[in-house]
Amino acid sequence: MNSKNYIDQLKRLHRRLRGSMTEYDLSGYWQMVHKIRKKHLVIKSHSDQKIKKEFQSIKNSISEINDLDITLIDIYALTIEAIKRTLKLSPFDVQLIGAIAMHRGKISQMNTGEGKTLTAIFPAVINALNREGVHILTFNDYLARRDAEWMGPAYNFLGLSVGFVQEGMSIEMRKKAYAADITYLSAKEAGFDYLRDSLCYDKNNIVHRPFNFVIIDEADSILIDEARIPLVIAGTEDELMTNLHQYSRIVREFKKGIHYEFDEYARNIHLTDKGLSNAEKELKCKNLYAQKNLEKLTGLNCAMHAEFLLHKDVDYIVKNGKIELVDEYTGRVADKRRWPDGLQAALEAKENLDVQSRGKILNSITLQHFVKLYPKFCGMTATAEIAEEEFKRFYNLDIVVIPPNKASIRIDYPNRIFFNKEIKYTHLMDEISMVHESGRPILVGTASVDESEKIAMMLRNKGIDCSVLNAKQDIYEAKIIAEAGKIGAVTISTNMAGRGTDIRLGGSDESEKVKVLNMGGLYVIGTNLHESKRIDQQLRGRSGRQGDPGSTQFFISLEDDLLIKYKLDELIPESIKNSLVKGEIDHLVVRKEVNRIQRICEGQNLEIKKTLTKYSDLIERQRQILYKKRMNILYDLSAYNFIKQEIPEKYDELKTKITEDELNNSCRHIYLFHFDSFWSEYLSDIADIRESIHLKRVGGEEPFFEFQKMAIQIFDERWIRLEISILNTIKKINIKNGLVDLDDLGIRAPSATWTYLVNDNPFEKNLGMQLIGDTGMQVAAGIFGSLLALELFFRKKKKQ
Ligand code: ADP
Ligand code: MG
Repeated sequence: MNSKNYIDQLKRLHRRLRGSMTEYDLSGYWQMVHKIRKKHLVIKSHSDQKIKKEFQSIKNSISEINDLDITLIDIYALTIEAIKRTLKLSPFDVQLIGAIAMHRGKISQMNTGEGKTLTAIFPAVINALNREGVHILTFNDYLARRDAEWMGPAYNFLGLSVGFVQEGMSIEMRKKAYAADITYLSAKEAGFDYLRDSLCYDKNNIVHRPFNFVIIDEADSILIDEARIPLVIAGTEDELMTNLHQYSRIVREFKKGIHYEFDEYARNIHLTDKGLSNAEKELKCKNLYAQKNLEKLTGLNCAMHAEFLLHKDVDYIVKNGKIELVDEYTGRVADKRRWPDGLQAALEAKENLDVQSRGKILNSITLQHFVKLYPKFCGMTATAEIAEEEFKRFYNLDIVVIPPNKASIRIDYPNRIFFNKEIKYTHLMDEISMVHESGRPILVGTASVDESEKIAMMLRNKGIDCSVLNAKQDIYEAKIIAEAGKIGAVTISTNMAGRGTDIRLGGSDESEKVKVLNMGGLYVIGTNLHESKRIDQQLRGRSGRQGDPGSTQFFISLEDDLLIKYKLDELIPESIKNSLVKGEIDHLVVRKEVNRIQRICEGQNLEIKKTLTKYSDLIERQRQILYKKRMNILYDLSAYNFIKQEIPEKYDELKTKITEDELNNSCRHIYLFHFDSFWSEYLSDIADIRESIHLKRVGGEEPFFEFQKMAIQIFDERWIRLEISILNTIKKINIKNGLVDLDDLGIRAPSATWTYLVNDNPFEKNLGMQLIGDTGMQVAAGIFGSLLALELFFRKKKKQ
């Protein structure tokens, strides 16, 4: 056993002692694999027809089968043969293990290049037998199409249909894709379709079937990194927030330490007494924290965030007179993503752009909540183990670590640490030039688009040609990354660019593979540590696939943003600091503290998430209850019955003038219209409260407890008003030519809706930081109380 394996073993033992549930002992799985192989020996000489027939007969009898393990053996054996005959690939034993684990609802951790796409076929096939549909969520649209087309023949051989969804597809095409046994699509498309369904007025436009089973590719990216980004559907013009430029002007005059303060990690900002009194004077209000001034408080808070916490060309860029948001994980401009409304508008004011109307948010769900709507889910990724606590806590998912098909011989060199950025870049350039001269391919992973471009420029100045990956086009990106293993290639990319695309040594056709193998394979250099070690691991995993040689190294400097933000400076004792050379640093204490920073940061982010999840669970629970109710209204007669019961005289009158059908349809339409406005307005209230709640702390109130109280109260009030509005509208119904004139009543479904993602991070982190502080316990109690109250509220409603 080499020393790396030995250390890995020790780490795992340590985890196990701490109560980790991650599985490393795979003997049970191996037994299953042997049985599958045995069965496969029997069927491998069967004719195509016979294999198809056998599969069909299992499918037809699936409802009577109770020992799924036996079925699994048969199904997986037949699937192996289907893959061999169509894709001309022979699945490895370790792929079968990954496939069994996924069917058991776990995350299979398999390295990059191990063939996860192929592995997913097995759990997809077996879970499609009940004809209720299987979704495979891919990292992006490009991969959804690629994988569906690539794997399609194997499914078709077994008589299963395959579909895929792409942005911009029509409702009809989507319905067809979802009607297939297996559907490949990005998590975003699946989520957006769910949101669109939640606003349907016509049940023929519903595209999703009830959810059954989902396999999540790149599971850590979707379930952890992107999990808390809300998907949003908006429509109907909203009125513009007024006074935005005024807020922006007020805060521009503010000075740090006099008018405002940052918290420790510069994530949160609050007014000082002086700042408060200035703002109150400018805004002509006595107490900014009073309930009636909520809108002003929110506006001011957004303006401060925009002015002091968000930086142009780092957090966002301005392009064609518009703000475009930069994703913190990929470092690239995020497609279809924006800041929460108030903040987006405040940024536009800060940059002196026209403040754009953005439409009212009609519904919203985070990916974390969306995925949990599936009764059964599982996933696969190269990096899960590091995040085992998160997978367990938020999704109750266990991880199975699958060994590679061929043992990894990649070498991960220790970090090289430099005194400052300048020295780091000098050494980085030297290293790249030297290695490049030998022809060995190099992949450089950077923290941001900005840094990618800077490094590319430095390389070009040295006469080194390189490819930079910062395109928004997935296909283009995949093409470049696929060639990153060519002789002489230098590829510069932000962290996650091209996830899902294989880097083959010697180019995508492997024409010069042997030469590159002899050079030592792909050399991966990271130019920054990421907040999460997992993302560093992703980058490393680009090298050394399928037992190929390869090596990785990170170049970091004491001036890197992450180290400054988390105050490495304070962790290193003065005496050591004074002794550091102004060049490359090789000091044990510095090394140790650098590692510690990542742990601090991961720990803190996890704490924030834990607390915020409890909070957002409240809104999600409300949303789900309402979604069910809305679906019932769409499909049954509850709207009609409600009217009949509440205003029998109007009902009797209408019945004599119009058909039963017309009456039923109009009641439904009116009900849904008010129902959707109710939810949209409630969401808008919640957003307002959220965006200003942390300032309330300074106003002397316990913010989170207050939040819960306000949410429940507003919900109750609005619900009562909703019922009144429905009844009032019905009372006003006029009949024109035997039909209800809905236009006349102002009842119109939104003429157009659009979907996007919201980068909720700034506010989330603020709230989170507040909550994990000294008030944690109180807050937990508050949330619990509120949920209870909500539950009671709905129970009460039901009884009525
Ligand atoms: P991952 O998603 O695990 O990074 P992919 O699914 O993209 O990997 O597959 C990487 C490459 O491995 C693909 O080119 C695929 O054709 C190949 N591959 C997968 N399974 C096998 C197999 N059993 N035998 C040979 N090649 C395979
Ligand atoms: Mg993949």
